[in-house]
Amino acid sequence: MTESGHLVLVVNSGSSSMKYQLVDPAAGTAVASGLIERVGSADGSARHTDGDRTAEFAGAISDHGVALRIMQDLFAQAGRPLDTVDLLGIGHRVVNGGSRYGEPTLVDSHVLAVIRELSPLAPLHNPANATGIEQAQLAFPGVPQVAVFDTAFFRDLPAAAATYAIDRAVAADYRIRRYGAHGTSHQYVSQQVTALLGAQASARQIVLHLGNGASASAIRDGHAVETSMGLTPLEGLVMGTRSGDIDPAVVFHLTRVAGMGIDAIDELLNRRSGMRGLTGFNDLRDVHQAAANGDAQAALALEVYCHRIRKYVGAYMAVLGGVDAITFTAGVGENDAVTRATALGGLEGLGIVLDAERNAVRSREARVISADGSPVTVLVVPTNEELAIARATVALLT
Ligand code: AMP
Repeated sequence: MTESGHLVLVVNSGSSSMKYQLVDPAAGTAVASGLIERVGSADGSARHTDGDRTAEFAGAISDHGVALRIMQDLFAQAGRPLDTVDLLGIGHRVVNGGSRYGEPTLVDSHVLAVIRELSPLAPLHNPANATGIEQAQLAFPGVPQVAVFDTAFFRDLPAAAATYAIDRAVAADYRIRRYGAHGTSHQYVSQQVTALLGAQASARQIVLHLGNGASASAIRDGHAVETSMGLTPLEGLVMGTRSGDIDPAVVFHLTRVAGMGIDAIDELLNRRSGMRGLTGFNDLRDVHQAAANGDAQAALALEVYCHRIRKYVGAYMAVLGGVDAITFTAGVGENDAVTRATALGGLEGLGIVLDAERNAVRSREARVISADGSPVTVLVVPTNEELAIARATVALLT
């Protein structure tokens, strides 16, 4: 079986996982997809789906090179060996492109070296991204590899938004600025909103990407002017396991008073905070369930989560001088009507009027959930980072 159209393989290499999707960029669909987990351990696992066919793997996955070979096997087992697929290229998600990379970039040895060099800015992600690319070069010789940077959409943030008010020599020496993250999603979703509403009705947008990671952005005429994530994805909204905004003095306090080391504090704020820290659960479905069962801490955690979102919406309305469209996306944003209603409830005075019935509808389609006549249009738009990466890969290669 040989594909006639050009397909793009999108690879997202995490520190201990690899997600992939074979995308038909023209049709906007995923032909096949899979998730490989616990890369680097003896009890790895992988699950692959291709239409109604599935294939699985369980066993040792020593590194990302082995993970790619398992992926190739799973494609073959599901009846679509990759060497029969007309692959235009492989698009890789790379978390931090620093100030260097804005546009999607064809990877050569220099680009790969720079991605590694930027690792201090994304210690959990960039090394894995670079290893994934390197291994894909070996596994698919001759297939172009393209890096699409998660920070790209925010590279040209206005200096007033990107600059931390610290000693500027220290900031310059250590490349400390606000880089943002989830940029591929914010850009894709805001473009979908413009396609739906037209340029004028979507000139000033706020996008709320609420998944396990969560971030907000303010966008004017297609350009990001603010975003909630900073040097790393730790800043901003309350997340599944990350604290979001916090007084940096908490770190000094934990060091001096609790005697905690820097790695322990990093682990606390990135992995044991947010909803998990407040409730024991990082999945909002579990938090809602606990709150419904009378757990007061879970109820408070939901209030903290929504309060932070409202604070950012208000701030970004001020940054933009008003807002035309506010859009929810990602796991929580797309599925959790209660959180949407709580986050934006009572803001009629700011022109934000939700329609309860529209908000309650469950759908995978982009949709408006504000009331007719609401000065601000509120939407739910499913994100699709893989499709955005695939399309960026096509745009670069053709
Ligand atoms: P993402 O990072 O975009 O894949 O989002 C994953 C998160 O979405 C999960 O951890 C859940 O907290 C959340 N989620 C998914 N479905 C729902 C739902 N129906 N209600 C509330 N939260 C949800």
